[in-house]
Amino acid sequence: MTTKTLAFIGLGIMGSLMAKNIQKAGYTLTVHNRTKEKAKALIADGAQWAATPKEAVAHADIVFTMLANPTVVEAIAYDKNGILPNMKKGALWVDMSTVNPSFSKKMADAARNHQLRYLDAPVSGSKVPAEKGELIFLVGGTQEDCAEAQPYFDIMGKATHFMGENGQGSAMKILINLMLAQSMAVFSETVHLGEAMGLGKENVVELLLNHPVAAPILQGKKNNILNETFEPEFPLAHMQKDLHLVAQTAFEHHYAMPLANAAKELYAQAKQHGLGNQDMSAIFQWLK
Ligand code: NAP
Repeated sequence: MTTKTLAFIGLGIMGSLMAKNIQKAGYTLTVHNRTKEKAKALIADGAQWAATPKEAVAHADIVFTMLANPTVVEAIAYDKNGILPNMKKGALWVDMSTVNPSFSKKMADAARNHQLRYLDAPVSGSKVPAEKGELIFLVGGTQEDCAEAQPYFDIMGKATHFMGENGQGSAMKILINLMLAQSMAVFSETVHLGEAMGLGKENVVELLLNHPVAAPILQGKKNNILNETFEPEFPLAHMQKDLHLVAQTAFEHHYAMPLANAAKELYAQAKQHGLGNQDMSAIFQWLK
């Protein structure tokens, strides 16, 4: 085991579970989260609490972040009590948040300007894989930096895909969520029509999920749809954010995405009508 000093910032649904796995593997973490309450279990198990990101990163060789969106990452990165001005020169920042590729490139440049190293390392997989240490890492940066973070990726995940230069990890991640968002919406609409035609919801759900037309990932949302309970594993508001990141990226590449934008607005409506903190599968409810 290496003796690197590790910091972890962002202890929401995903971050709290990922940090817990690193801790369970025998490492000591310094942790920070806007809401201290969410760090309680980690602190009870030996994590050092840092009152500010500055305190968290000051001595760290590697800083992991798992934050809501680019706006939050940027605010915490540039703040005088934040990440960039306060990390040790030469240290490595691993941002695992889902952000857009051009944003990752911007953070990589900012890190370089502060004589720091940076990886975009977003993850595929939700709350349960996070808990089991079975996430899939999609990494952009240098292979050397990826190798340095690999032992921790191996604790939090079951696979790492090195995608290329900075931004390419985020690029792959938004493609995956684009497919997921659309699959979930299409499946929901289809089930509603089936019910309207009198086929019976359970029958339709069962048949579609066992037919090659349904994306395998939707199996994991089956009970949510059948019971119409949407306890957040992947909050719908984050999915809408990811579709916004897709639209922004498509704009930057002069590429039209009519289907993605329709899906984005559906999720936006669902969020606007109070479903943002429910699981993303609550799009089923909105389409009812
Ligand atoms: P979450 O539970 O909403 O956690 C978001 C984190 O960001 C929390 O630590 C939160 O702090 C922090 N945050 C939000 N607004 C902030 C602000 N204004 N200032 C400071 N901190 C702020 O989200 P999550 O599900 O863990 O997701 C985290 C990231 O991983 C997102 O980018 C998401 O898209 C991505 N992701 C999620 C999943 C999933 O299934 N949930 C899967 C893959 C990737 P507080 O605790 O104080 O609110």
